[in-house]
Amino acid sequence: MEELLRRSEKLTTVGQLAAGVAHEIRNPLTTLRGFLQLQQETNKLNHRHLDLMLSELDRINLIVGEFLILAKPQAVHFQERDIRFILGDVISLLDSQAHLHGVEFVLNASSDSAMVHCEENQLKQVFINLLKNGMEAMPDGGNIRIKLNHDEENNRVRIEIKDEGTGIPEELMPKLGEPFFTSKESGTGLGLMVSQRIIQSHKGMMDIKSVMNKGTTVIIDLPASQQQPESVEEENNTDNEPTN
Ligand code: ADP
Ligand code: MG
Repeated sequence: MEELLRRSEKLTTVGQLAAGVAHEIRNPLTTLRGFLQLQQETNKLNHRHLDLMLSELDRINLIVGEFLILAKPQAVHFQERDIRFILGDVISLLDSQAHLHGVEFVLNASSDSAMVHCEENQLKQVFINLLKNGMEAMPDGGNIRIKLNHDEENNRVRIEIKDEGTGIPEELMPKLGEPFFTSKESGTGLGLMVSQRIIQSHKGMMDIKSVMNKGTTVIIDLPASQQQPESVEEENNTDNEPTN
């Protein structure tokens, strides 16, 4: 019953979102059609037109990509995973891009292990979204501090992502996570909403605090898995450290 309710709820949100996505895609499609028509009638497409067409196509691709993460009917596969490794993977993925923009990731993991029952790729998507937002908020570079804390007493894992960027104006705070709310010229305004949904589906919480011209902190709180890393299935660890 609960599952059914949850699924129907999800269908509604995905349905609502689809309407928004269709709307968002129609604008770049109209532009593309206009240029193609221009080409057909006058054979006068220039480089600038082609650049615009490419960026409009990229925009469609981005919107559809983020939407698919939510709407994909394929089964999600939850497994026991160590959040440290997920964060590590995402950081190495984005590191070179970050360096190019003068951004440094500083990871501070206070515990030995932080196992979470999760869909690894979805959590990676969340961290990619959040780290990218942090980078985009620091046009002149700076540090993004990522703090991981495993509260063993309460069985929670807490991840803090703190940037030194522009911050978010107070009046925009309620808009965060609203689909298509973006302050960026080429933003989709889907990243936070997708992240929020993923964290919710992991029975976690996401919170955002921001101080103008100081930076923004995103806090994620997830239930820790009871399972110990030694007993993790499907992991073919040959480099297990001896336990002490
Ligand atoms: P997008 O990044 O495509 O704009 P998001 O959903 O990721 O969409 O973010 C929505 C908006 O929230 C951003 O456009 C920006 O205004 C604000 N925002 C999110 N994260 C940050 C951050 N770390 N620093 C400053 N503003 C942020
Ligand atoms: Mg974003």
